[in-house]
Amino acid sequence: IYNSNSDIVISRSCVPKPIDCLAREVGLMSDEVELYGKTKAKVQLDIIKRLQAQPDGKYVVVTGITPTPLGEGKSTTTIGLVQALGAHMKLNVFACVRQPSQGPTFGIKGGAAGGGYSQVIPMEEFNLHLTGDIHAITAANNLVAAAIDARMFHEATQSDKALYNRLVPLSGGQRQFSAIQINRLKKLGIEKTDPTTLTEEEITRFARLDIDPESVTWQRVLDTNDRFLRKITIGQSPTEKGYTREAQFDITVASEIMAVLALTSSLEDMRLRLAKMVVATSRSGEPITTEDLGVSGALAVLMRDAIKPNLMQTLEGTPVFVHAGPFANIAHGNSSILADKIALKLVGPEGFVVTEAGFGADIGMEKFFNIKCRYSGLRPHVVVLVATVRALKMHGGGPTVTAGMPLPKEYVEENLPLLEKGCSNMRKQIENAKHFGVPVVVAVNAFKTDTEAELDLICNMAKTAGAFDAVRCSHWAEGGAGAVALGQAVQRASEAPSNFKFLYDLPIVDKIRIIAQKIYGADDIELLPDAQQKVERYTKQGFSNLPICMAKTHLSLSHEADKKGVPTGFILPIRDIRASVGAGFLFPLVGTMPTIPGLPTRPCFYDIDLDPETEQVNGLF
Ligand code: ADP
Repeated sequence: IYNSNSDIVISRSCVPKPIDCLAREVGLMSDEVELYGKTKAKVQLDIIKRLQAQPDGKYVVVTGITPTPLGEGKSTTTIGLVQALGAHMKLNVFACVRQPSQGPTFGIKGGAAGGGYSQVIPMEEFNLHLTGDIHAITAANNLVAAAIDARMFHEATQSDKALYNRLVPLSGGQRQFSAIQINRLKKLGIEKTDPTTLTEEEITRFARLDIDPESVTWQRVLDTNDRFLRKITIGQSPTEKGYTREAQFDITVASEIMAVLALTSSLEDMRLRLAKMVVATSRSGEPITTEDLGVSGALAVLMRDAIKPNLMQTLEGTPVFVHAGPFANIAHGNSSILADKIALKLVGPEGFVVTEAGFGADIGMEKFFNIKCRYSGLRPHVVVLVATVRALKMHGGGPTVTAGMPLPKEYVEENLPLLEKGCSNMRKQIENAKHFGVPVVVAVNAFKTDTEAELDLICNMAKTAGAFDAVRCSHWAEGGAGAVALGQAVQRASEAPSNFKFLYDLPIVDKIRIIAQKIYGADDIELLPDAQQKVERYTKQGFSNLPICMAKTHLSLSHEADKKGVPTGFILPIRDIRASVGAGFLFPLVGTMPTIPGLPTRPCFYDIDLDPETEQVNGLF
């Protein structure tokens, strides 16, 4: 049953149904859908109002054990599971997945459409530009970055009066504030709308944001793995008169605007979040926002279409929303709340929505519960935890697994002792899911080299560790038919009692400590001086009630990527903390995490090419 076709060959062998047909099938009206060609459409947010009275479907989140750098099949399992529930068990379903970044697509890991016979199609549309949402984020993010540096430059090179006259220019012989400027005046406690009545002191306060250049936390972004942008110097042209500054690029999917898109609940809410983003601190210690820079309205305009979820389909014709794609290690790693909410209404009370949280359960799932569910108010019925023989063997002490290199023999020959030892990681991740009070179904994603005894061992160990059920699946090789047992287990688990609870509701340091101790298994945390200083600053600025989004390696439960299994006896170092006030979380940096990946010696792009005759894209996976 194991196929030898590449993912792109399988994807291309299936003719997708016209997307307007699929839209009708799932209950969307024609005026609620905006077509982007024949295979993609955006769905308007008004649908939420129309379906307000409809009860929600069952909500399932797919997560995994700590993965190898190759990925253990969470996306593949998400798609396989909805194919099983929808095409084979004839239930209403939706998969909600993240839009992949072009960084990994051209870099190391490849695309994220799933794999084998469980994929979102057409995968070249899915993996590349989709409907341009990531590009919109890049544009919006970099507009903010340009606004910050231009503002600092203009403030440094002009008098208060000259600045004011340019910020509030004469038009038809009169000066007038824009709506955004009136908001800024209110924030400063100046209740005036006539620009001619400001005192000298008020003019200075209004015109000067007085940004401390050292405090700028907003970075430029690009959706490319480009390591040489990790540290740059900007402003080197003589036109900038020596106002150079050290800066950096992040990958677009780490932008706060991506997190805003993923966490927002409406256009109005997005507009407010885009205005609240804190980009720096003034020399007197005040947070400087995008609203202060006057750019927030323009950001909402740039993001106007991106807020609408994208409808696509699986190989078996079941519906998929692809919407937002924050990385899970340096951002919160979950697709959008809006897509999940719309999907839950569309499937109705007997249906299932399967959403995916990035990387292992210590990362994406913890953030799914503590950040995404906190903002959405949604409560999941089931956690599906994906486990593989290869990753568990790695946790048992198997040799290093490297992307692009053949797997060492331990991984392709039966080795029960190694596997049994590595099951400790699965046990810990089951325990992590159970902290939130939701039943866990372990999905053992079978590879062709796995033996019966190995697959059975994982299922038995998972049940002993407290999983509601554990089933092996072969959806990669067989499509939805290979995940029917998983679908049935998920259906049973969705009827089991669930007792959802958050992990924390505490001051900043205690929140970080709870995650470190309960989820990662650390003895304690250590706040390094920059982090300590930020705790004080954010507490003073009133941001201490925000949930926590840890930036930590996904390759280990600890902060050290090479510590496999269940590391113990470590202190988690918190190097610094950032605030994403618009998105709504604080962002502790655990150890050093590059915020833009680099390219390996042989990146995926070596295999990607276009056939000019057929216009086919080759080499994506
Ligand atoms: P994740 O979402 O956990 O990162 P993916 O679902 O993207 O993982 O899968 C990672 C890669 O492994 C993909 O290229 C996929 O095609 C492949 N893969 C997943 N499951 C299997 C399987 N059972 N057999 C072979 N390859 C698989």
